[in-house]
This record gives sequence, C-alpha cells and structure tokens, in this order.
Amino acid sequence: MRVVRTIADLRALLRPLREAGKRIGFVPTMGFLHEGHGALIRQSAARCDATVVSIFVNPTQFGPSEDLASYPKDLERDQNLCLEAGTTVLFLPEAAEIYPTGFQTHVEPGRLAEPLCGRFRPGHFRGVATVVAKLFNMVEPDLAFFGQKDFQQTVVIRRMARDLNLPVDVVVVPTVREADGLALSSRNTYLDEDARRRALRLSEGLLSAKAAFEAGERDGAKLVEIARKPLSGVDSIQYLELVDTQNLEPIQGRVDRSAALCVAAYVGSTRLIDNVLLSPPASDLAASAS
Ligand code: AMP
Repeated sequence: MRVVRTIADLRALLRPLREAGKRIGFVPTMGFLHEGHGALIRQSAARCDATVVSIFVNPTQFGPSEDLASYPKDLERDQNLCLEAGTTVLFLPEAAEIYPTGFQTHVEPGRLAEPLCGRFRPGHFRGVATVVAKLFNMVEPDLAFFGQKDFQQTVVIRRMARDLNLPVDVVVVPTVREADGLALSSRNTYLDEDARRRALRLSEGLLSAKAAFEAGERDGAKLVEIARKPLSGVDSIQYLELVDTQNLEPIQGRVDRSAALCVAAYVGSTRLIDNVLLSPPASDLAASAS
C-alpha cells in the first residue's frame, strides 16, 4: 500500500495503472474507519485491480455548529484497516491541497439535496458534491463505492455523476451493523454507555418496520408508526420519513414502489442517521400497475 498526500503524487502513481488498462476503484472517507468502510474497500478490492481510499475531513460539508473540529481521528488504526482490506493507494490530502487559496467553484445539487438531511444541514450536500466531484477528477476511478448508510448521499452523487457526465459507476454497498443492529458510524465513538443503549432504538424501529414490510404490511403510515415506537428514548427526532428511492419524495398511502425509511435523530449531543430499504417484489409492482 502506498501513502500519498499530494494530487501530483496520486496522479503519478495512478497513471501507469490506467495506461496498463487496470480497473481503478475508489472509496472516499473521512477516516476513523470501521468495518462499514472496510466493506466498501473489500468490495472495491474484489472488483477492481487497484483501490484508492481517501481520508479527508471535508470542511465544506460541515455546518458552523457541527463537529468538524472534534471529528474523531486515528490514522495509525486507519492505515492498518486500509492495508488489511486491500487498499492499493491511501490518499491523505491536507485541506490546502483540496481547497487552495482562491477556491470558489462549487457543485450545486438540485432538488434531491433538499429533503431529509438537506433540510437540517443547509449546504451539506453542496459540500459533499463538490468534494466528491473534485476527488473523482483526481482519482478518475472506474467504480466508486458508497455506503447505503448515507442513503441520500448516494442518490445525490449518482445524480451528479449523470448530470455532469462523470465517467464513473457509483456502487452502493449495504449498511454494516453491529451484532445488535446499530449501524456502524465513526460518530458512535461519541456515545457513552447510556447513549449507546438509546442509539439502538433507531435501528430497532427501522428493522421492525422492515420485518413488518417483509411480512406483507404495505401501509406506509403503519410502517412509519412501527419505526417510531421505540424512538421515545432518543432526545430529538429530526425526521422519520418514508420516501421514494428515486426522487426522495414522501410516499403516502401504499408502498407500491421502491422505498427508503430514513431517520435522523440526536442521542444526547450526537446526531445519528440510519435507513432501511423496502422494495416490493416484482409481483407486487405488477399487481399495482394493473
Ligand atoms: P464517512 O467516513 O462517514 O464519510 O463514510 C465514508 C463512506 O463509508 C460513505 O460512503 C459511507 O456511506 C460509508 N459508510 C459509513 N458507515 C457505513 C456502514 N455502517 N456501512 C456501510 N457503509 C458505511
């Protein structure tokens, strides 16, 4: 595994690989890696000839009162995880390498960035889209891997890649969870024992709703209610919404198309997000179309 800190060194390393026809996979991260990131890296390593992982805590996607300054970090552990998961090149740029003096051009996502997290984190997806577009231009990957855990992010980035004709396939990897269901997140490190117990309510609710869906429940309001029940233990729910996976518009009534049930909530001072996908089987879709 090679570790590089500049765009010039990154390009110099990747050029011969690309010229030799190697398939390049890319996993952008903000570090403090866990097995969720590990799953993305492993999938890239399995499907590509070379895997680039970036660790960059992107200032432009944090709001003024968010945790940019205190975002957790452990570079030595991250390097070990990257190596063990099959990383070829680890890219560790400083902020000045990504945003040199005079930087002023951004990628502005459209309507997909408005609901859900977009409502509570103004400018967040503009920051995400901008840095991901820049990283795509630096790495020029064939495939880029993103976690289902950040569902809206995957939708915004897929749309951006299409809208800007970025020649990359966006691959979405299922959410990796702890044995008890809690979605892995770098921010879980902020949770003390009591908060960790309450954080579990998010996945409990979502996974119960998914189980009900799989048992045949199709009433959207009922599914949301099932997910809401355990949430009385969390401090404040920002949103709990059932949305169409294509356009992120709320689903009212019957779930007759591919849906995502998404939640964001504070547990103590830690903001957590999670989601489950609810996809009616093809036979259901045919029935509702007829
Ligand atoms: P982050 O370092 O939080 O910006 O995440 C980097 C990538 O890892 C994003 O594509 C996330 O969606 C993904 N990721 C984070 N947590 C998980 C998880 N529990 N399962 C799968 N992917 C994840």
